[in-house]
Amino acid sequence: MIPRLFPSRPRRLLSLALILASAQAWAVSATIGEQEKPNVKAQEKEQEGVISKAENLQLDQPVITELGPPTGAAEPIIDTQANGEAPPQKSLPQAENLQLDQPINELEAPPSNKEPQTRPTVDTSTQPESSPTGNISIEVEKAKPLRLLGAEVTPATSTRLAWSPSQHFEGVYSPTAVLVVNGAKPGPVLCLTAAVHGDELNGVETVRRVMYDLDAEQLSGAVIGVPIVNLQGFHRSSRYLTDRRDLNRHFPGDPNGSSASRIANSFFHEVISHCNAVVDLHTGSFYRTNLPQLRGDLTNPRIVKMTKGFGSTVVLHSAGAKGTLRRAAVDAGIPTVTLEAGAPMVLDERSVSHSVKGIRTLLNQLGMVSKFRLWGDPEPVYYNSTWQRASTGGIIFSEVQLGEFVRKGDLLGTVTNPITNVRTEIRSQHNGRILGMALDQVVQPGFAAYHIGIQAPQEQISPPEEVIPEETAAQKPQSPDAQKTRVSDNSAADLQGDED
Ligand SMILES: [Zn+2]
Repeated sequence: MIPRLFPSRPRRLLSLALILASAQAWAVSATIGEQEKPNVKAQEKEQEGVISKAENLQLDQPVITELGPPTGAAEPIIDTQANGEAPPQKSLPQAENLQLDQPINELEAPPSNKEPQTRPTVDTSTQPESSPTGNISIEVEKAKPLRLLGAEVTPATSTRLAWSPSQHFEGVYSPTAVLVVNGAKPGPVLCLTAAVHGDELNGVETVRRVMYDLDAEQLSGAVIGVPIVNLQGFHRSSRYLTDRRDLNRHFPGDPNGSSASRIANSFFHEVISHCNAVVDLHTGSFYRTNLPQLRGDLTNPRIVKMTKGFGSTVVLHSAGAKGTLRRAAVDAGIPTVTLEAGAPMVLDERSVSHSVKGIRTLLNQLGMVSKFRLWGDPEPVYYNSTWQRASTGGIIFSEVQLGEFVRKGDLLGTVTNPITNVRTEIRSQHNGRILGMALDQVVQPGFAAYHIGIQAPQEQISPPEEVIPEETAAQKPQSPDAQKTRVSDNSAADLQGDED
C-alpha cells in the first residue's frame, strides 16, 4: 500500500508540525471549512437530491483479519545493489518526489488531488561516462534507491513517508511522518530524530529547517528526518507515551513486549536500521534547560569523529542510559549522538539555530553537501559532568547563566522556603561550566539543579575514526555479536538528573 502523502499549508509553527506529523490531522483540518456549516451543506445536497447513502458496516459483526508477522520479524530489506547476487525482492511503489527544498507558499499550496510532480527519473550522475572515443566507459558509483516503510525512494527524490507502530489500532492513532531526501549522488544515510520525548519542541523545528533546505539533486547519500517520533506525547504536550512510559527507555524494543517496547521495536527496525549515523534531538527535562550540547560515548572512535563534525558545540561524554535510542543504535553498530538544546515545552531560536548550524556542518563534514557556509571547524570541547542538587525544598532562583564558567565555591543559586523564609545557598563544588540548569521554579530537596561540565582528560577521548560503514544495519545480516562490540560501558557518566 502506498503511504498517502499529504500536501501541507504552513501556518503557525505548531500547526505545521501537526500537519507534518499526521495525515489524518491534515484531513481533519482540510474539512473544517465544510464542517462549519453542516446543515446548510446537507440541505443543499438534499435539495439537489444527491445525498449519498452511507455504507452499511455491520457494526454488530466482528471483522476478522489474518495476523501478520510481528514487526520485529519483518523480512529484512535487502538492497540489490549492495552485492551482485541479492535474492529477488518484491517491487515497492515508488515514492512521490515532493521537492522539499522549495518553500511552500500558503497561497500556492497544491490542492490535495493535484497530479504529483514528477521529475525525469534518469539520474545523470549514475550514467557511465564515455570517453571521447566512445570505446572506454568509466563506471561512476551509483546512487542507490532507498527502500523503507513500504516504498522505494529513487535517487534525486524528496518525499514524505509514514511510519505506524503495528500495535496501533486503525482510526485511533495517526501515522508519524518520515521525511526522506535521497540524493542524486551516493553517500551515507544520516537520520535525524526529534520529539522521542513528546514535549521537546526545539528538535521538531530543527528537523524541519534542515530537511526543507536539502536539495536532492545536490545531496550525496540520504537524510531521513522524523520530526515527531512520539506523536502520542506530542499531542498531549507530554514527555511520555499514553501509558506513562518513557519511549527513550525501551529501545531497541521487543515485538512481544509492552506497548512502549513494541513501538520502540517497530521504529528501530523500520527506520533506525536504515541509518549509517543518527542524531537524536532532545532538550532538558522537567523545567531544566540545556546549553546546546552533544552527548556521546567518547570511547567510541566513530562517535568522536561525529562530534567533531558539528563544529563549535560542546560534547558531554556519556555512554547513555540503557534503553535510549542512542545507546541501542550504538549497540547495533550505528554511531549516534544526542543533540540537546534548550528546555521542554518551549521553542527558542538560539537553541534551534545552533542545532541547525551544527547539523548542516555535520552534513558538510560527512561529505553529503558541498555548500560550505558555516562555522570553520573549531574543535568541540569535551566534558565529563556532575550534578549539584538542591539540599532543601523551596523556590529556586539562579545567580548563574547557561554556558557560564564557574569556580569552586561560586554561588550558583538560592533556594528559599516560602513559609519559613529560610534561604539555602547552592555553591559550586567544582571548577567547570554550566551545561544545564533548572529554570526558576519550586523544587523538592534533591532536585538536580545545576549540571556542571568538567573538562574531560584527553586520554578518555578515542582518536576519531570514519563515521560511515559500507552498509546499514537493514542491509547487513543479523550479527548476534552486535551487543558485545561496545568499547566500554561508562555507567559512572550516567546523567541521573537529566538523561536524554
Ligand atoms: Zn528528551
